[in-house]
Amino acid sequence: MALTAPQIMVRAASAQIATASEVGNPGFCTFKLGDFQVTTILDGGRPSEGPHPTFGEDQEAGAVAELMEANFLPADQFVNGFAPVVIDTGSEKILFDTGLGEGGRANGLGLLRERMQAAGHQPDEIDVVVLTHFHGDHIGGLMEAGAPAFANARYVAGQAEYDFWTAPERAEGQTANAAKAVEANVVPLAENMTFLADGDEVASGINAVAAFGHTPGHLAFSVESGGRRLMLTADTSNHYVASLMRPDWHVRFDMDKEMAVETRKRIFDQIATERIPFIGYHMPFPAVGFVEKIDLGYRYVPATYQFDL
Ligand SMILES: [Zn+2]
Repeated sequence: MALTAPQIMVRAASAQIATASEVGNPGFCTFKLGDFQVTTILDGGRPSEGPHPTFGEDQEAGAVAELMEANFLPADQFVNGFAPVVIDTGSEKILFDTGLGEGGRANGLGLLRERMQAAGHQPDEIDVVVLTHFHGDHIGGLMEAGAPAFANARYVAGQAEYDFWTAPERAEGQTANAAKAVEANVVPLAENMTFLADGDEVASGINAVAAFGHTPGHLAFSVESGGRRLMLTADTSNHYVASLMRPDWHVRFDMDKEMAVETRKRIFDQIATERIPFIGYHMPFPAVGFVEKIDLGYRYVPATYQFDL
């Protein structure tokens, strides 16, 4: 793995994190998977309070604090990263998710655009943009200054996800803001969009895997090239300790909590059993790792040089 992981530094006093440029590294990581070249790109890191009650919403704060402390993490602050992925298959450049986009820049996020260029992928070279689901941190970068950010791309998204967010009843109540973002960023691209169901192919070797629960149409993707496999788990699990070691714990952003638990166990049981690597959109950057099944859940094992061999 040509690994240039940013040294994310949390300044204790201000709880601000240094950007990659401040610490002199590029915020992307490239490795080979068979004939594919895979690049994870850090759109940014956002420090906030937690993980409780965002993670372990149905647990006592003390139980979450105890697990954090046992894993050398603070109990009252955490950093959430955002990691879109470019897969260059040799014939197409496929981008999975688009970060927070313009709306994140005031807070040091929305860096996908500049960092993908630094990694050798111009926005107008992207052939396909795949959306795992329609939350704002995944669709925020679709538009740039009022125009499509990836000018030559076609789009791929889950049929169930599109149907859910564009239904008239989403425009009111708790889903109103998210539906407004879908209306602004996704709907204008729909005429150039292909809709997937479980198992459908994005490109040869890349297939959708139904991973519903986080959102009603949330998709993971199975990737295979030259006999090597990888799973893009998107938002199936969003904290490498709270949500992998305790997959049963409810997560505030999971729209159907119990279905998200079932999906987490199904997908990560498979990844653990098959011993394949995965990329999780919110895993610690460079967001690539493995899981080992342990007592109540999974131990996250960050990838190191496995892809160099
Ligand atoms: Zn997300």
